[in-house]
Amino acid sequence: MLSVETVTKQYEGQERHAVAGVSFAVAAGEFVALMGPSGCGKSTLLHLCGAMDRPDAGRIRLGDTDLGRLDDDALTRVRRDRIGFVFQFFNLLPTLTLAENVALPLLLAGSTPADAMRRARTLGDRVGLSARLDAYPAQVSGGEMQRAAIARAIVHEPALLVADEPTGNLDSGNGTRVLTLLQELNASLSLTILLATHAPDIAGAAHRTLQMRDGVFVPDAGPVTPARPARPA
Ligand code: ADP
Repeated sequence: MLSVETVTKQYEGQERHAVAGVSFAVAAGEFVALMGPSGCGKSTLLHLCGAMDRPDAGRIRLGDTDLGRLDDDALTRVRRDRIGFVFQFFNLLPTLTLAENVALPLLLAGSTPADAMRRARTLGDRVGLSARLDAYPAQVSGGEMQRAAIARAIVHEPALLVADEPTGNLDSGNGTRVLTLLQELNASLSLTILLATHAPDIAGAAHRTLQMRDGVFVPDAGPVTPARPARPA
């Protein structure tokens, strides 16, 4: 599904590489966690895998598509059609209801408003938001906002869900519920997930954990908590 080969990325004006030669692959239906301290390069690597940025060197393939070979328009299409993003601070549009936020990617992809809203409501129910779908983001809890953000990220059935510290702004109860939702969607929809966190308990929910330090994977570190075995596809 996702293949990353000796990828590097250095930001302008920075002495060190944010990502300094990283290789790994994620199989379809896998749930992989990137773990490591703040500043070790997790977000940068997620942005590269999510077609939000291009590597300086190395290759990233999503399915058969070599992301580094795409022009800006094609990269935007990959991002819109094949990738879903979940962020630490939800990034919902405040002037839209939760249902409208969830429907937005479908509208951008050309669905009719009626069809987009119907699918948004079905998925909203699925993520446990039935009673809150007509509320605005400011009227609901952080956990509810994040569940809406997850629904928005997967409503167009992306190949890959990229989640950057999705529980980082939630209390432990809401964090656990969001994590359980991600596990449930991974198992029931065979949703492929690449998630970054610095919290061992969050990473332990994944099938596999990759440990990062200073832009590289720490060799042979293994998972910090026993990882779940991948379910057969
Ligand atoms: P993490 O997600 O693990 O906290 P990041 O990928 O955000 O790590 O950051 C990796 C390194 O790149 C850090 O040294 C950070 O300061 C630097 N960095 C991240 N984003 C930028 C940017 N837009 N411009 C310059 N440096 C950046």
